[in-house]
Amino acid sequence: MTRADSLAERRAYLDGNLTKVECGSCGTVVRARKLSPMQTSVQWTTPSAGACPRLAAAAGDRPAALVPTCPDLRDSLDRAVREGRLEVTG
Ligand SMILES: [Zn+2]
Repeated sequence: MTRADSLAERRAYLDGNLTKVECGSCGTVVRARKLSPMQTSVQWTTPSAGACPRLAAAAGDRPAALVPTCPDLRDSLDRAVREGRLEVTG
């Protein structure tokens, strides 16, 4: 039985219900929480403006809340889900 081990390992990634995920392209770190299989809540750990070059390019002068997630970060989030690091917590 390795359940206790895997739980301890998983806990290392957790900060409350938030899981740290790093964008594989720009290295921006976000704290993410899976609300449902289709919904991911993301909190920036760095000021989002300018943190990610791809986001900055997409942002233009729109408010930060309307800026789409960096596509590379989205890939990183998908990978975290596949690897079981990011699970639906409701
Ligand atoms: Zn990025």
